[in-house]
This record gives sequence, C-alpha cells and structure tokens, in this order.
Amino acid sequence: MPGESTFADVLAANEEYAAEFPLAGLQARAAKGLAVLTCIDSRIEPLAMLGIRPGDAKILRNAGARVTDDVLRTLVLAHHLLGVDRAMVVAHTDCAMATGTEDDIHRAVQEAGGPEMRGVDFLFTRDQKATVRDDIERIRARPQLARLDVGGFLYDVGTGRVTRIC
Ligand SMILES: [Zn+2]
Repeated sequence: MPGESTFADVLAANEEYAAEFPLAGLQARAAKGLAVLTCIDSRIEPLAMLGIRPGDAKILRNAGARVTDDVLRTLVLAHHLLGVDRAMVVAHTDCAMATGTEDDIHRAVQEAGGPEMRGVDFLFTRDQKATVRDDIERIRARPQLARLDVGGFLYDVGTGRVTRIC
C-alpha cells in the first residue's frame, strides 16, 4: 500500500492500546451531558483540561473552534440523540485563526508550498471574544437547540486556565 510507513508508528501504538483496551462497553451517550467545541491546536487536551474522561462528553474540533453549519448539525444530533444538554465553545490564546489577518493565513499557506486558496474562508477573527459571543448566539438562534445550555470560554495555552467569556 502506498505510504505504508506513514502510519506505522501510530498503528504499532494501537496494537498495544487494543491489547489492553480499557473502554470496552462504554456507552455512546455523553455521560456528563456535555459537548465541547474547541480548536484543533495540538496544545489543547479537551478531556484533561476539564477533568473529564472518555464517555463523558462529545468533543468537536475545528480550526478556531468556530460554530459552522457542520458544528450546528452535530450539536443537533448530540442534543437530541446522545444525551448532550450543555455545550462549551472554547477558543484559546495564541490561536493562528486570531493572529495576523486572513490574508496572512492565505500567504502562509502558499509560502508553505500550499495552493492558492482565495476562495476558502478560514474564518479568521480579529476579536476572539466578540466572535465567541457571536458564535454562541448562532447556537441559541437555532430552534432545534433552544433548550441546550451554552457558554463561551477562552483557554490559556500558557497556564491551562479556562475562563468564561459569556
Ligand atoms: Zn487555534
């Protein structure tokens, strides 16, 4: 198979994980009724930072922790079928989606050898807190999510602290 060695390290690690698999029998419903939307930033540990474990919460991630149509679709399913009754939107400090400008991101992609992507909106923001508030309002405006409790937060990648924005 092409690129067979590309995933060799993680598949080898999975052999060990599966050999002592600790999560057999876990239920698909979110045990703590929680959904967490956060950024893809690899400095963020969504479970550990909130003191939760596998099975407790639905974790959604995208660049910038933005409430996109797909996040809304997923929250509707999680709320009505998977036991979610509260949702956190957790942006973070030093996020690439809030550093510089949308043009900077396009330029950086090209400088890294990527293609021209003028048609792509990376959902860059200049004001993270205002954006989190707007995104929370997007969730609240969705009739299918009217009974979901939602809150906006900021995670500090330097201290690990989560503070509430709205
Ligand atoms: Zn980020």
